[in-house]
Amino acid sequence: MTARRVLLPADLQADAPPAGSSVHAFSGLTMGTSWSVKVAAPAGALPRHLASDLQQQLDTVVAQMSHWDPGSDLCRFNRAPAGTWCELPEAFYTVLSYALDAARLSGGAFDPTAGALVDAWGFGPDPSARFDSPAFKPPAPSELTDLIHAKRAGWSDIQLDGTRRRALQPGGAQLDFSAVAKGYAVDQLAGHLHGAGLHHFLVEVGGELRGAGMKPDQQPWWVELEQPDAAAHRETHAPAPLLALHGLSVATSGDYRRYFEHAGQRLAHTIDPRTGWPLRNGVASVSVIHAQCMAADALSTALGVLGAEDGLRFARLHQLAARFVCRDEAGFVEHTSPAFDAMLD
Ligand code: AMP
Ligand code: MG
Repeated sequence: MTARRVLLPADLQADAPPAGSSVHAFSGLTMGTSWSVKVAAPAGALPRHLASDLQQQLDTVVAQMSHWDPGSDLCRFNRAPAGTWCELPEAFYTVLSYALDAARLSGGAFDPTAGALVDAWGFGPDPSARFDSPAFKPPAPSELTDLIHAKRAGWSDIQLDGTRRRALQPGGAQLDFSAVAKGYAVDQLAGHLHGAGLHHFLVEVGGELRGAGMKPDQQPWWVELEQPDAAAHRETHAPAPLLALHGLSVATSGDYRRYFEHAGQRLAHTIDPRTGWPLRNGVASVSVIHAQCMAADALSTALGVLGAEDGLRFARLHQLAARFVCRDEAGFVEHTSPAFDAMLD
């Protein structure tokens, strides 16, 4: 048995929750997945409608940024004719401008306009075009080429106007925030809790996490890094590391979350926008630890697309704490960045 590895943030502050605190748990559904929040506080310190306030925060993110809800502001942007400047609500504008930065930073590996490719591979909202529908056919190479080059505007064609909080639809750009919106939503919930005077909590949306402060027993919020189930059962592979989520977020992008098998290949829901194909680089999961969950979310997706070699170079350059679990003939092999290694206790 290999010993369990433990990751600690550089600055652990011993600010325990107030005397008389216990853990209060809240949960619900959002973005086709679930959310959960644990708060360490005295019962009397909780606002009366905390659960519905948290749900309301998430509902706002969905109303603005869901590409599954035709009534969302994002779908309105996607439908706008070429050359339209669309005024955007604040949260949508914040996520779009961050997503365009992440696209630039990653050379388009993270691509908030990957929506048309995601749909073509059967991972979009249309049930009749889904990979598990009997009518589904994987896209032909010529269709992928059209989607990438000829018929579709991409992230670099979208212009922002910060003074009037609007964005230019260049024509046919299909935004899909699935790789960043969960992280953003986690940050929103964390911000709401801090605003309510609650500073000891663990927030999770669809597996992306952010923690602050401590539990009543003065332990930090310990979480296990997510990885493919099978990876933990290989004798060759160490158990998933434990992370003290203290003033930190962690997000994981993985090929085991949504995928289908086609012609003996695993085709998962993360697409390399540069080739138009689902990832074929052996990456099974990537976790990124970051102060901001929106960044952890987008960058874990970007690193998955970049693959272990380029992804580790990127992580080194940007001092990102990242862990890759890759499939190889022997099973799974792990690669970690220097900033990740520096957190190992
Ligand atoms: P995540 O689990 O955060 O990696 O997000 C994956 C989801 O983001 C997929 O289900 C797609 O909807 C979308 N997506 C797929 N590939 C990309 C990409 N290269 N960049 C941005 N979003 C993507
Ligand atoms: Mg992501």
